[in-house]
Amino acid sequence: MNENSRNYQKELDAKIADFEDRGEVPTLLLHSCCGPCSSYCIEYLSNYFHITVFYYNPNITEQEEYNHRVQEQMRLIDSMPTKYPVSYVGGAYEPEKFYAMAEGLEDCKEGGERCFGCYDLRLLETAKKAKELGLEYFTTTLTISPMKSSKKLNEIGERIGEGLGVKFLNSDFKKKNGYKRSIELSKEYSLYRQNFCGCSYSKQEMEEREARKREREALTGEVSKSVEPVCCGDRLYELEQAMEREKNFKNNC
Ligand code: SF4
Repeated sequence: MNENSRNYQKELDAKIADFEDRGEVPTLLLHSCCGPCSSYCIEYLSNYFHITVFYYNPNITEQEEYNHRVQEQMRLIDSMPTKYPVSYVGGAYEPEKFYAMAEGLEDCKEGGERCFGCYDLRLLETAKKAKELGLEYFTTTLTISPMKSSKKLNEIGERIGEGLGVKFLNSDFKKKNGYKRSIELSKEYSLYRQNFCGCSYSKQEMEEREARKREREALTGEVSKSVEPVCCGDRLYELEQAMEREKNFKNNC
């Protein structure tokens, strides 16, 4: 099949329908990047899988930020009602592995080569953990973000899964309004929603964006009415909301 034409959400739908036909509830190790992104994935997948959430993110800037995200992840799991129980397993915080991978890729923009290496690091560790725990499938919440390439993530997951002999669960969680639902759930559970992806480079990009916005406001004397994006997917979500409001405004004129 042409890689570009694959619809990973439809593939997941078909797989789930197959499990249901056979009355199976497989075990799944769900790599999570943060509480907000995992909220929809847990809500959705826990209807069909016995999930263990795996928090492994060597990309996170600082220990304090890392600990904060871990606590929010655990609080969410404890608070969310789910059809099948969801458990948690924490990985090690290994920023040195991330910086070794990112060497020479420091100037890549978010969504570029450095990010592909970052996906690889996290998915490899997830597949190893799934194998160690004897779980049937592994996947990641990362496909929920409109800032991340689902195609790349699925390619990497499949390659790693084949290499280690663990089944990768294809996904594109941003489909079916997944990221919109994750924003709703984040508000419902008052989750901490960071305004940068995770690494020091994405933090710097965010700070530069904020500085440009402040400069614009100082020049025009106008305070931007845009809602500050607070999580990886939010920038696009806010843009879509603004376009929708604009469309409704025009239609009503
Ligand atoms: S921007 Fe996000 S995905 Fe890309 S390298 Fe940084 S933490 Fe990883």
